[in-house]
Amino acid sequence: MTETSPVRATKPRQVRPATEGWSQKKDAEGRPLLQFASPKRGKPPVHLADLTPEQRVEKVKELGLPGFRAKQLEKHYFTHWTHDPAEMTDLPAEGREEFVHGMLPPLLTEVRRLETDRGDTIKFLWKLHDGALVESVLMRYPGRITLCVSSQAGCGMNCPFCATGQAGLTRNMSAAEIIEQIVRANRLIADGGLGGKKKDDQSAERVSNIVFMGMGEPLANYARVMQAVRVMTDKQHGLGMSARGITVSTVGLVPAITKLANEGIPVTFALSLHAPDDRLRDELIPVNSRWKVDEALDAARDYFDKTGRRVSIEYALIKDMNDHAWRADLLAEKLNARGRGWVHVNPIPLNPTPGSIWTASEVPVQNEFVRRLNDAGIPTTLRDTRGKEIDGACGQLVATEDDQAVAAATPLEV
Ligand code: SAH
Repeated sequence: MTETSPVRATKPRQVRPATEGWSQKKDAEGRPLLQFASPKRGKPPVHLADLTPEQRVEKVKELGLPGFRAKQLEKHYFTHWTHDPAEMTDLPAEGREEFVHGMLPPLLTEVRRLETDRGDTIKFLWKLHDGALVESVLMRYPGRITLCVSSQAGCGMNCPFCATGQAGLTRNMSAAEIIEQIVRANRLIADGGLGGKKKDDQSAERVSNIVFMGMGEPLANYARVMQAVRVMTDKQHGLGMSARGITVSTVGLVPAITKLANEGIPVTFALSLHAPDDRLRDELIPVNSRWKVDEALDAARDYFDKTGRRVSIEYALIKDMNDHAWRADLLAEKLNARGRGWVHVNPIPLNPTPGSIWTASEVPVQNEFVRRLNDAGIPTTLRDTRGKEIDGACGQLVATEDDQAVAAATPLEV
């Protein structure tokens, strides 16, 4: 086709997105604004789940009790999901409260709980010891219960289509603050608080899958997230969950992906790509200014090589932004260039966020995007999105003014 072709003239191939109404925040040097370092705030109290099993024994001894008490506390916390001294009758009554408080200090105060009609999706709003607010979302699916956890209060990655990203980073969460979200969810499930269970089902249930897709960039809080993952998977001293059921999702911090691949813990790895070309990804994902599409994809492929775990590529379908057929083809080409059978793609229609100028792609466009990838041999499934009506879906987690008002009026658990 020549430059003068009428088809070309009326239907230009769109390369750059229409970003009218939004401009990327820049730092003093004119680079996209990113916050990697956590602002300094008072540290949350040290909790059993922040410590290795050996450190727990040490701490128990420091508090004047014999080391074997650590094991009892682990059982109460990780198996019975309680931190209430009154339920720990196997511990000496004298000094029990102070001891339990010293080992299992309260970390999360529940501010709000929102449920969908059938009660099978629940969003929690938690206040941390310093007043920072985070959310987690609990979802029942056939055969599994998934908790979407936060790893940071806010997020420093500044993605324009994500409500959390637009609010900035408040601070890193501690490992125990991450774990406590699971323990509290398990407690609620055990108490019958999660809807959607079949009436005749008598089985005891708990969270089976974790996705690090709540607030925060997990790989920007690497050490604490890894400690939390170790506690989740530890069968003797932790929650005993399967590593495969844990998904770590990242915007693409390449050195941290490589580090994760070398940990020897086969968690499921997800890369939030959202664009196959740097021209668009530079706009859409500010961290692309540091690590480009090809570097992120190479790191994802390396993750597969090291762990044997098939990786997920996440792709929020945004109308007229990244949903073009040629971008589906380019994505397939880049993935196939790195081999077969190592990856699948999870497109997800964009969830609306306050003030955003973007919307989800039209259904026929979504379907075409998925079809082209599948035809190219890349397993691709449109992700079901939960919790939209309670602002609990991907990218919608942010403490609103109303949340902040309710939180201010909620006394911290002591
Ligand atoms: N920071 C991590 C994890 C948190 S977000 C990451 O970027 O992967 C979890 C997923 O939701 C990511 O794939 C993210 O890009 C996506 N997401 C963010 N905003 C969204 C929105 N408005 N609609 C749909 N998905 C969104």
